Formats: sequence, structure tokens, C-alpha cells
Amino acid sequence: MKRTLLYGGAVMAATALFSVSFSAETPKWPQNIQTVLDNTKPLEFSRGKRLPLYLWPAMDPGTLSDTDAEALVGELDRRGVGLVCSWSPESKGKSLEQALPIARAQKKLGVKVNVHASSCMNSFFNGDEKTAHIDKDGKPFWDDSFGGGKMGCPFTLDFRKDSIKERFTPFIKAYKDAGLYVGFIFTDWEIDGPIEFNKAWEFSRKCTRCRENVKNIDDFAEFQKDLRIIRSELQHDCYAQPVLNAFPQALVGNYAVYPNDGYRYWYDWFEYYVDGQPCKTDQKAKYRKWYQDFPLTGFTFAMPVFYTWYRTYDWYDFTKNDYRWFYNMLLNASNAGKSTPADIPIISFVHWHTTGAPKKSDAKVAQMSEWAYQEFLWHALLRGIDTFFVWCGSKNANPEVSLVAPVYAAAQEYGDFLEKGTPISFEVPAKPGTVISGLKIGNKVLVRRTDFDGSQKPVEIAVGNKKIVVPAMPGKCRILKIK
Ligand SMILES: [Zn+2]
Repeated sequence: MKRTLLYGGAVMAATALFSVSFSAETPKWPQNIQTVLDNTKPLEFSRGKRLPLYLWPAMDPGTLSDTDAEALVGELDRRGVGLVCSWSPESKGKSLEQALPIARAQKKLGVKVNVHASSCMNSFFNGDEKTAHIDKDGKPFWDDSFGGGKMGCPFTLDFRKDSIKERFTPFIKAYKDAGLYVGFIFTDWEIDGPIEFNKAWEFSRKCTRCRENVKNIDDFAEFQKDLRIIRSELQHDCYAQPVLNAFPQALVGNYAVYPNDGYRYWYDWFEYYVDGQPCKTDQKAKYRKWYQDFPLTGFTFAMPVFYTWYRTYDWYDFTKNDYRWFYNMLLNASNAGKSTPADIPIISFVHWHTTGAPKKSDAKVAQMSEWAYQEFLWHALLRGIDTFFVWCGSKNANPEVSLVAPVYAAAQEYGDFLEKGTPISFEVPAKPGTVISGLKIGNKVLVRRTDFDGSQKPVEIAVGNKKIVVPAMPGKCRILKIK
């Protein structure tokens, strides 16, 4: 993708310079880091300007000496992996003690300084009664439809902004004072702040303050707009803006916040559909109408989510099990790919194991095959996704990492297309058949074709006002010429 503007600078020096070889003095890394090293290999094709691969286990390696930090950052970079450190306001000293040597090593090796800042954003709804909804008798009440946490009144949160902003301040200052530049920072801020789904609409209609603030509260679209504006402002004012003031080139984003085509094709684990909310139906799926919130946040990268959500399986009647997962994930990848401006990188969360399965899960809900998952990753890359962030717990880390890392690495053979190419198709076949994705530079197209119906016949597709014939080529990419 033509997404070079934002990350063209510092990362270039890294790959060529450093080749750390572990000797007898090799430190013993914590288990999460060892898992990453065991399931990835040094890249065959240099990473160049491409963003690294992010992995949940490649986070927080503990307190390391400068020498060990450098060895680890260098070794992970050879594998294309970016090491991330967390900012935890509750244990600020310890958190900086761990993060600063890593950040110094990242600066020295010319790679991005990566930060995980979820703890800084928690929580706007902190239980303070001032943040509750208020009923007609003036009594406070909460929205309990989001699982454990008490969600309150969207129109009370202004006074919480300073406290949340202050949670970021010491970290930003410590990095600035040390001459360290944050290159990538993300949060996983979810069940907090205004969200219009679940029973939020019902609760807000019972709140006198909400009724005063939303002009026509019986119109869901208006309610959604007002809440999304507040939600975006909280992210902008407390997080994106302070970080970007200090580090104007930083990639700043939050889980599940990304440009969209007006719909969301998946549900988070805590979300459910409530009758009356506008949606588009597709077999048994109800894709909710979504607000265009990304531009209001000030975020500089998009962070969509491509997971094998358990409930997705039953939405569709495809006899090919794999296509139930693949189809939905490709809808999500295509949505982000086609809706995101070219200068905004897309770093998508991915997860392979069936996600959010209940304790007693239905045996018919078959795990997506490794083959289909890896094919999906390829198609995502060829539809404008720049890199992945593998989310996983320690139990599933081995397969999660070892499935994504080889696709990330192999795709680098086509680094030029990933960097400069334009996606040619966002089409998602409505039944299991031939799926084609591609990136075009000039008269060349890097193409991936996957057949869910075993078809071997060449397929003709339009590229702009020309056509190309795509032969069957299982498991491979190919560069085709437009004639
Ligand atoms: Zn309210």
C-alpha cells in the first residue's frame, strides 16, 4: 500500500546493521519471549521500511541490562518482530525501569519504540457516583449490560479527562527527558466510556440527563452519533493528542477503532444485538450500522480485529466449514482495507483459535483450518492490511505465533508491492468459490487466488478498465502483467 509517509524514517537502519549471535552468555529469556524466539525465524527478505510484526507474547520481557535489551531487540528485529513495553501507572517506577532499557536499545538500533498503554486509559467510569445515569427522582443508576463493569452516563465524563490524561503524563515525560521517541503506541480500551450497544440505549432513555442532551433520543442514529463523538473525544483529548504533542510522528491507535464502510461485521465478546438497532442482514448475521468515529479520535493508525469469533460460525450455512470463518474475516479485512486512507497504516489484531467460545461449546463448531487461516492472512495483506498484531494467551501462543510469522516473513519477498501497491479487489464471494486479491504497481499485479470449491479454471477479473486472467495457483502468489 502507498502508506510510506508515516513510517519512512527511523526503521530503515535496523535490519542490515544488526545480527546478534547468542553465545554461551545468552541470557535466559522469560517464557513469553522464548516462545516468540522458538516460533519465528530470522527473515529471509529484509524488512526494509515495512512495519514489524507485533505479537502479544513479544511484550514486557522484564528488567534487562542495556546489553541484554540490545541483544533481544536485535534478535527479534531479525525476525521482523517489534518488542513492546507496557506503561502501568499503578507501578510507574517498575514499569519505567523495564521499559527504558528496551526503548534505549530500540533507539540505538534504529527501530520503533513500541508501547502498550491500556492501563493508562482505565477507567473513565471508575465507580464514582457522579458518573452514573440519573432517574426521574434524581437517583443515580448504572448500566449493567456490559458484563462486570458498571457503565454510567456518557454526559458526565468531562471532569474525568484530567485524571486519565495525568496517567499518561509521567511516561511521556520520562521518554522525552531521556531523548526517546515513541514510534508505536496502542491501547486495548474497550468496556469503558460511552458505548451505544447492548442495553445502553434503553438505560439512556430512562436517564434525565441523557434525555436533555440527546435531542431526539428515540432515534438510534442520533443517539449513536452523540455517544461516538464523546467516545472519540475521550480518546483524542486524553490519549492521542498528548502523545502526538510529544511525538508527532507516532503511530497511535486503539483496539477496534478503524475507518469503516458504515457497518461493523463482527461483535466483540461482550456485545450483543438488541432489536431496533439498525443493521444489515446477511443470512443469520446482523451487521450493525457503525459511526465513522476514527477521524475524530486523531489516531494515526487503524486497528481492526480479525478473529474467529465463536458465534460467527452459526451465522452462515456454508457447507465448507472454513468458509464460515474466512468469509466473515474477509468482510472485516475488506471493510478496513477499502475504507482507510492510503497514508494511514492498518495494524490488525488477528487470532486463530476459536474466539469467545462458551464453556460448553457445540462440537459442530469446527476450528478454522490452519490452511484457511494462512490464506486469509495473505488476502488481508493483499487488501491493504500493513501488518498484524497477534493476540493470544500463553496457552495458545505456540500455534498462534507459528501460523502468522511465516506469512509475514514470506510476504516480504513482495515488499515493494506491500509498500507501494494499490489493492485491486475487495470482493467477497457470497458462497465458497474463488477468492482473488491483489496489489497493483504500474502494469504489474501481485495476485493471490484461493479456491474453496476446488476450481482449477482460469478466472478473468477486471483491474481498473483492463482485465487479467488469473490461473489457479494453490498456496502461491504470482506477479501478473496487465496487457
Ligand atoms: Zn445518562
